Amino acid sequence: MQYFPAFIKLEGGACLIVGGAGPALVKLRLLEKGTAAIRVVAPLIIEEIRALAVTGRIDLCERPFEATDVQGQSLVFATTGKAEVDTAVSRAAKGAGVPVNVVDNSAASSFITPAIVDRDPVVIAISSAGTAPVLARQIRAQLEAMLPAELGRLARFAESFRSAVKATVPGFSGRRRFWEGFFAGPLARKILAGAERQAREDMLSLINRSRGDTPRGSVALVGAGPGDPELLTLKAQRLLQSADLVVYDRLVNPAILEHTRRDAERLYVGKAKGEKSKSQQEIHHLMLQALGRGCQVVRLKGGDPFVFGRGGEELDFLEAAGFKVQVVPGITAATGCAAATQIPLTHRGLAQSVTFVTGHGQAGEPELDWASLARLDGTLCFYMGVSTAANIAGSLLDEGLAASTPVAVVENGTLTEQRCLRGRLDGLPDLIARERVEAPALIIIGAVARSARAAELPALAV
Ligand code: SAH
Repeated sequence: MQYFPAFIKLEGGACLIVGGAGPALVKLRLLEKGTAAIRVVAPLIIEEIRALAVTGRIDLCERPFEATDVQGQSLVFATTGKAEVDTAVSRAAKGAGVPVNVVDNSAASSFITPAIVDRDPVVIAISSAGTAPVLARQIRAQLEAMLPAELGRLARFAESFRSAVKATVPGFSGRRRFWEGFFAGPLARKILAGAERQAREDMLSLINRSRGDTPRGSVALVGAGPGDPELLTLKAQRLLQSADLVVYDRLVNPAILEHTRRDAERLYVGKAKGEKSKSQQEIHHLMLQALGRGCQVVRLKGGDPFVFGRGGEELDFLEAAGFKVQVVPGITAATGCAAATQIPLTHRGLAQSVTFVTGHGQAGEPELDWASLARLDGTLCFYMGVSTAANIAGSLLDEGLAASTPVAVVENGTLTEQRCLRGRLDGLPDLIARERVEAPALIIIGAVARSARAAELPALAV
């Protein structure tokens, strides 16, 4: 991040604007929202600024800038557009250790001003670090349209009950849950609609009802999809935002973890370099401990938790331990990879069924009924099949599947590094070796695989 976002407390402070024309007026309007004393220094000051100055908070100095003007200021703005004056202001401010903004000159500035959505005390600042101001303004317009006008009133209402809630509702996560329920519930809607007096009474009874509530842990098995963060479900996103603990493994794209609260605990239970991944027992135990502490736990799994994800085992365990488990499906690798390479998994006249098969058994090579698989005449999607591809191809060929059956191998499907390779069943092991395919990759076998689309694919020789 080139610019670090922060909100500055200007209460009791002073700000200096150098320049007395249009750009100074823009900054003045911005600063007026705060409580700092404002001084404008310029030999000539336009009428609009003079008009604003009658409030008394703005001090006008009609004279050229002097380096000593920056002394004691909290923020300085150089708005003259005259290079020599603005540079002098920038130098003086930087010399005195005062943050300075020079209009349209980021090199001379030590801070920049964002686009703002103002629902005081809720304020949203948007910056593109100067790269795309129009984009920042568009985002602001979208947020303006999205956020209720009375959001500030809601925040102030909550503030006025903070200590009452703190004194009544036990535990940090209990209180967080109380507030989550409040902001998402009917009371908040009442306040946004302006019925504040009635809301105050309701709030008191809500707090009383929550007295002494011991938070009970909750747990959800959540599918994170095949990789692309946009393939996350809305439900998964919402649960991630309220989780205290997110337990995730290797296939979960780090970009998806960005959806968790910043103070949530994230626990990686996949394989780290040179280490073994945590055992299923260890994972169970970790979750149970967190649930005992009253945490909201999200067990986040690549793809869908119930497709080769051991979600069933975790469900059984947690239920046996007395917890109700919410299960949120995710887009599984087969449907994600198929969509990303435009392979219809079923297609009239080509494939009347699709089968998800593991290429990896408990002790390496899977024990599968190859004869039945070869006879299905539909689409076969092999998960975890990279290292056992030779066995998969050999077994299917032995059981009579045609050597020319199209196959597609999708590596890192839906991610920017996605690769899609196409070939024939008898050439599958070679294709994987030659192209150095690595997990995660999905192998799709069947007539539909012929239509795999990716710019770099050569024509298929059958
Ligand atoms: N629960 C997961 C599957 C876990 S098993 C799901 O529903 O998708 C892990 C296997 O899934 C990998 O070996 C690979 O075959 C497949 N897989 C997962 N993500 C993938 C991706 N982005 N691209 C290709 N294959 C993927």
